Amino acid sequence: MAQLKELHAASRTDREIAEALGVDRPTAARRRRSLDLPLNPAPRKTPAVKPSRPKRSKWDGVELQPCGTYASYVRGCRCELCGEARRTYHQEYVARRRAEGIPAEHHGTAYGYQLGCHDRDSCPSTPACSDASIAEERRRRREAGIPAQPPRVDAAPVREHVRNLMSNGRSVKAIAADADVSLSGLKMLLYGRSGARKGEMPTKIDVTKATKLLALA
Ligand SMILES: [Zn+2]
Repeated sequence: MAQLKELHAASRTDREIAEALGVDRPTAARRRRSLDLPLNPAPRKTPAVKPSRPKRSKWDGVELQPCGTYASYVRGCRCELCGEARRTYHQEYVARRRAEGIPAEHHGTAYGYQLGCHDRDSCPSTPACSDASIAEERRRRREAGIPAQPPRVDAAPVREHVRNLMSNGRSVKAIAADADVSLSGLKMLLYGRSGARKGEMPTKIDVTKATKLLALA
């Protein structure tokens, strides 16, 4: 009986106690009850964790819309192309709604641009609000005595010329000084923009700067 008490204290079930004592289970249970000991419950069997299968869809592997479309984004594709398509779609949507909200008589004016019609393609007027706004700004500058910007020319041949000078051993700094152009402007011509448009190569250059740089030999 002492042994049974010990086994019971160790949370053994009747079956385990019976095995240890070499008796059958009902006998073990009867002896346990005679000692006024409660039944030790068998440990709960924990159900084996099923490996979770990835969710299947009947659309798996079916390319409904090619990547790079808004429809593909809506169907759940989050690749870079579809993200870009979504952004474009959104921008166009916003531009369209803005244009729709502006009374027709204000389209094609600088005021229409101020009201939010910034997109040339979605403006129903020709010239578009953005063009009217640029024209208006230009007119104001002339009126205020600000001289017109010098005409701009293709930057590529100038860049090519400066690179040739550099390959002949001239430094960027020396070239800027000799041509009397700003060093930062020259660096932008050679290496591209900085800031939000980082790396973008300028396609145009002021004709005065171009002339000065091309004059260097
Ligand atoms: Zn407009």
